[in-house]
Amino acid sequence: MPVLPAEIGRMKRIVILGGGTGGTLLANRLRRAYRPEAAEIVVVDRDDAHVYQPGLLFVPFGLAETRRLTRPRWRQLRSGITYCQTNIDHVDNVRRFLAGEPLAASFDGHTNCFIETGRGRALLIDFNYDTEPLTGHYPGPIGLPLLRPSRLNHLGKLAFQQLYWHGLLPGHDIPGISPAMPARGKNRPANPVGHG
Ligand SMILES: Cc1cc2nc3c(=O)[nH]c(=O)nc-3n(C[C@H](O)[C@H](O)[C@H](O)COP(=O)(O)OP(=O)(O)OC[C@H]3O[C@@H](n4cnc5c(N)ncnc54)[C@H](O)[C@@H]3O)c2cc1C
Repeated sequence: MPVLPAEIGRMKRIVILGGGTGGTLLANRLRRAYRPEAAEIVVVDRDDAHVYQPGLLFVPFGLAETRRLTRPRWRQLRSGITYCQTNIDHVDNVRRFLAGEPLAASFDGHTNCFIETGRGRALLIDFNYDTEPLTGHYPGPIGLPLLRPSRLNHLGKLAFQQLYWHGLLPGHDIPGISPAMPARGKNRPANPVGHG
């Protein structure tokens, strides 16, 4: 697709590549942050099928059907966001990486993931690029157990679907949930491997 100018007059044009989880919630949050006359927001994706990926875990157990986990991408976007369905052929950070230049943005790799273990229980892991999954609780000392199969985790996973469509994707703040990995509630080893 053609390269779009960063600004048209004084209005910013923000182009978000990918209308999945990250792209959709970012677009919705930016739409709330910028007045319509201050920024045009465009989301680009190659198709119009937003799949609630965490729900795929339940498909092999016969607890979910893929078609019921799928919604049109444009419908998850606030009004005032332009949806563009097309294939992206390159991104500038890849060019920078190949040229040995510093990348333009950073992410600590925070990931929070349920693993269904069967019999109505699930295991929860929480980690980032620097911290391996630890025992304890998420998102704080009182919360879901980490690295231990439990019924509570399974129920939390089931409840997450509503939170995903109606809280996370629209870009609402969710108490106790932030992009940075929470340190509270985790049992850190006294002497981590590789740190003396
Ligand atoms: C089975 C399963 C279970 C999961 N469980 C959890 C969980 O419990 N907790 C959790 O936090 N995460 C979970 N995840 C992961 C979570 O769904 C992903 O981390 C999240 O969707 C990633 O968001 P994203 O925006 O980075 O990528 P995506 O949501 O995948 O969005 C990327 C988008 O880019 C588009 N795209 C890619 N290439 C191009 C191109 N060349 N041109 C145009 N468009 C393109 C794709 O169509 C896609 O829409 C799970 C994932 C799976 C598969």
